[in-house]
Amino acid sequence: MQVQAADIARLAPLIGVERMETVEHVAEVAHAALAGRAVININSAAAGGGVAEMLTSLLSYVRGAGIDARWLVISGDHAFFETTKRIHHGLYGGPGDGGPLGEFERRHYEQVLHENANEVMAVVRRGDVILLHDPQPAGLARVLAAAGARVIWRCHVGCDVPNEWTRRAWEFLRPYLDGVSEYVVSLPAFAPPWADPAGVTVIPPSIDPFSPKNQPMSRRTVHMTLGYVGLVGDGSHRPDVPFARCDGSPGRINRHADILQTGPPPPPEAPLVIQVSRWDHQKDMEGVIAGFAEHVDPRLGAHLVLAGPIVTGVADDPEARVVLEQCIVRWRQLPHAERSRVHLACLPMADPDEQAAIVNALQRHARVVVQKSLAEGFGLTVTEAMWKARPIVASAVGGIVDQIIDGEHGLLLGDPGDLAGFGRAISSLLTDPQEAERLGRNAQLRATEEYLGDRHLVQYGLLFAGAH
Ligand code: UDP
Repeated sequence: MQVQAADIARLAPLIGVERMETVEHVAEVAHAALAGRAVININSAAAGGGVAEMLTSLLSYVRGAGIDARWLVISGDHAFFETTKRIHHGLYGGPGDGGPLGEFERRHYEQVLHENANEVMAVVRRGDVILLHDPQPAGLARVLAAAGARVIWRCHVGCDVPNEWTRRAWEFLRPYLDGVSEYVVSLPAFAPPWADPAGVTVIPPSIDPFSPKNQPMSRRTVHMTLGYVGLVGDGSHRPDVPFARCDGSPGRINRHADILQTGPPPPPEAPLVIQVSRWDHQKDMEGVIAGFAEHVDPRLGAHLVLAGPIVTGVADDPEARVVLEQCIVRWRQLPHAERSRVHLACLPMADPDEQAAIVNALQRHARVVVQKSLAEGFGLTVTEAMWKARPIVASAVGGIVDQIIDGEHGLLLGDPGDLAGFGRAISSLLTDPQEAERLGRNAQLRATEEYLGDRHLVQYGLLFAGAH
C-alpha cells in the first residue's frame, strides 16, 4: 500500500502546545532509536474495517516524522479467510460459522502464509520492526523472527471473558506466535492468556480528524453528498460534490450507493438513525432493524439507515454476503409502513477516500448514531461519531465501554439483545434534543482528549524506542 507522509503539526490547533511538544519529542526519540530501520505493518485488507482505516492515517504521520513506515497487505483465498474469520469470531468468544479449526485448516493457513512470505521477505531486513495485525498474518511471525526482525503482534479483537471459543482460537494461534517478542492490544483482557504482562502494551486506537472520514464538512456539503449518492432525497438535481482526499488533493463524489428501500429516500429534514458497519454477525444489523422497527414510534418521523460496504468490497470478510442477505430477509418481513422507514445501503468501495467522505456525511447528518454490536474490539465507528459530537446509543461491550460512560458521552445498552431498551434509548434522544446535544458535546470533548492520533503516536513511538 502506498502511504503518504503527513505532518503531525496539523494537529497542533486541536491538541495544544503541551501535547504537541510531547509528540514531537517522542517522534525524535523513536527516530533516533530506529536508526533507519523500517517499521512494516502487515494486515489482510486494504480497506473496509477499523484496521485499514487506522493504518491509512496513522502511518502517514509516522512517515511524516521521517520514519520509514510501510504497509503490506497479504492475500489469501476463500478457504483461508473462512479460517481466519473463524479465529476472529473465536477471539470474540463465539463459534463463527461453526466450522472446524483442525489439521486441514492449519495446513491451508500455513500454505497461504508461506506463499505470502516469499513477497514479504523481499522487503524485510534484520532489525526491522514488524507489526502483524490480527490473526490473518500471525503465521508470518516465525519466519520474520528467524530473519532477525523484531516482531510485534497487534491484536485488535478480543473478549472480556474467555470461554471455549476463545480457548479454541488461542490454541490455533499459539504455535504461530512463537516468534513474537511483544504484543499490543486495545484492552488488557485481549492479550493472549500465556503472554507475559511485561511484553504486553495496551494501545487503544485513534482517529484522524483530517482524513476524508472525519474532516470538517459543511451542512451544505453533507446534504449534497447524501443527496448525490441517494441516501437522502428531495428529488432535485445535485451538482458536483467535492471533498479533500487523504493526500490533500481535491476529490469528487462520483459513485452512488446501492440502496434497498420501499419508496423514496428519507427526506432531508427527517431525523436519521444510522449504523455504519461491516456486514458481520457481531454488528447485529438485524437486531438494529428489529429494535428500530418495533420500538421506535413511527410518529417520531425517524428513518433508519444501515450502511455497510458493498459485499465484494472487503477481501477478508467472506461472511458479508450471508449477513447482508439475512438483513434483507428481515427487512422484507417488516410491515410495509415500517419497511419504508428502514433503508439498507451498500457503499461503493472502489475509491476509499470517496467512500470515507460518504460515511463522514452520513455520520454528520445522523440525529442518532447507533452501534448495537454483540461484541466489539474497540469500535472506531463510535469514536468517529464522538468526534462529530453525535449522540450515540451503543452496546456496553469491548472497547465501547472504554469510550463512553453511560449518560455522560452517550447511552449504553447493558444487554445488547434488549431491543425494547434499544428503542427506548433512541426515542429518548430523538425527543430530547437538549440532552442529545449535551451528550454529543461531551463525547466530542472526550474524543479530543483521548482518541486523536498524537496519543497513539506517542505510545507507538515509546514502543519502537523500547521505552514503553
Ligand atoms: N466503515 C466504512 N464503511 C462501511 C463500514 C465501516 O468506512 O461501510 C469503517 C468505519 O467508519 C470505521 C471502520 O470501518 O472506520 C470500522 O471500524 P470498527 O472498529 O468500528 O469495526 P471493525 O470493522 O474493525 O470491526
